[in-house]
Amino acid sequence: MDQITKHVFKLESIPICNVYLLDVEDGYYLVDSGLFGYAEAIRDELEEEGCPLSNLKGILHTHGHGDHIGNSPALAEKSGAPVMGHEADRPFFQKSPHIPAKSLFQRTLLRLADRFLFRQPPLKVDNYLTGGQEMSFSGGWEALHTPGHTPGSISFYQPEQGVLLCGDALFNQHPATRVRGLRLPLPLISVDSRTARASVQKLAQLDLKIICPGHGFPLTDNLSQKLERLLGSKTRSKKV
Ligand SMILES: [Zn+2]
Ligand SMILES: [Zn+2]
Repeated sequence: MDQITKHVFKLESIPICNVYLLDVEDGYYLVDSGLFGYAEAIRDELEEEGCPLSNLKGILHTHGHGDHIGNSPALAEKSGAPVMGHEADRPFFQKSPHIPAKSLFQRTLLRLADRFLFRQPPLKVDNYLTGGQEMSFSGGWEALHTPGHTPGSISFYQPEQGVLLCGDALFNQHPATRVRGLRLPLPLISVDSRTARASVQKLAQLDLKIICPGHGFPLTDNLSQKLERLLGSKTRSKKV
């Protein structure tokens, strides 16, 4: 497990998609749970670090895509911890055939990915978030609704240390090609790119010291310049 800030850690046992741990006084939260099939690896890594599943307080989801929720059904069952995510992503969590999509092609693509790549069972969400919630642990976190990639995308922000866990509102690595670089959500797998860009404009107003994305390494250097360049670029998915 890599320590990112005072209260934020990044798990090492999951490829492609990042899973973060938020340390609290009497346990911890997970933000996302990664690709299906890694629940045992996650449990082992947590136990090695002195974080048994009995101390898991909750699983927070940045959005409902399969690469971010894959181990949540198993981890929730083993720990009894509550699962949280935005209500607008309910169809993704439930693996509904009526997932939001901008075209029939995109819906088919996402459904095929869910069926053959992200093979987790439907996820029961215990507490639906709407954005605007404040969580008092570890210096205080805010859940910000940052839609576009999916209708229910959420970013978690800790003002005290300028930490942002943004899920796929921003990518720092292409999930398929693995090419590194900060970029807006990929249009192919995003429901509304214009709204996604508006969400990044909102995030760029925050006092940010570190951005922890769902894909790629956390970023610390020249964040406002990077976001400015990204928002100024003509190609929506162009990396900087
Ligand atoms: Zn996604
Ligand atoms: Zn993703």
